[in-house]
Amino acid sequence: MKQLLYGGFLAALVCAGATEAQEPLRIVATTADLKSLAEAVGGRRVAVASIVPPNVDAHEYQPKPQDLNRIRDATLLLRVGVDYDLWLDKLAARAKRPELRRGGAGYVDCSFAIALLDVRGSRVGPAGGHVHGSGNPHYWLDPSNAEIITGVILEALARNDPANAKYYEGERLRFLERLSAKMRGWEQKLVPAQGKPMIAYHNNWAYYARRFRLNFAGYIEPRPGIPPSPSHLAGLLKLMESQQVKVIVRQPHEPAKIAEFLAGKTGAKAALLAASVGAVPQAKDYLSLFDYNAEALANAMK
Ligand SMILES: [Zn+2]
Repeated sequence: MKQLLYGGFLAALVCAGATEAQEPLRIVATTADLKSLAEAVGGRRVAVASIVPPNVDAHEYQPKPQDLNRIRDATLLLRVGVDYDLWLDKLAARAKRPELRRGGAGYVDCSFAIALLDVRGSRVGPAGGHVHGSGNPHYWLDPSNAEIITGVILEALARNDPANAKYYEGERLRFLERLSAKMRGWEQKLVPAQGKPMIAYHNNWAYYARRFRLNFAGYIEPRPGIPPSPSHLAGLLKLMESQQVKVIVRQPHEPAKIAEFLAGKTGAKAALLAASVGAVPQAKDYLSLFDYNAEALANAMK
């Protein structure tokens, strides 16, 4: 009996060893949004880290030495692209891993198949924040784009880990099912906000607004990345009065003072939204980011 037990124990150890032996595939994403989507596709077979901390403008982020160490160990490198995380090229070059540089097998620009908005073909700034020189980079805020982004991630995973391609495919489909069930809830929740004029600090919201038929009538920044002048604010006040703007959207890291000033002058309510996973504690992952925003916006409309 003792022998049998011991034998069973050994067998259990060997089994544990076999599972351990399959190291998760390491992924580094520039943002928490892409991290969450990579986790949705990769499931238990991946270990994903993100670089830009919550409530930091990705454009202004300065890579740290530990970012270089992370990238050195990564099989896949995911970026937003559209000039949002330009510093990544230098970082990837310093990592001396050619497969993680543009064109390499582990390099994934998630904007690859996205139809971009606000493509003007001109550059403005820089003056803090980030400009939208090559188009609006906030495309993950249309949850329909998650289908495209996870498709690109799936392709990269299957290319680098073909033995588990079927598993990744299944995980992605399960995620898309959850997403589509959630989508109906968000659409319903946002019906009271449809078409109602709002203003926001920065134009994070072009894709979000298109998906849910929201109406951003103006922005506190006169152009993305450019802080407002007194004359721009005066114009914005006029616009808020003439269009009866009732809601001012702001992210936690965007200056509260200007939004409060405009709210005080017009009686509009401020709504704190999250344009990225982690920007508010409730936005724990990609799906809860949209749960939180729909709830916050619906409340602000009451
Ligand atoms: Zn932006």
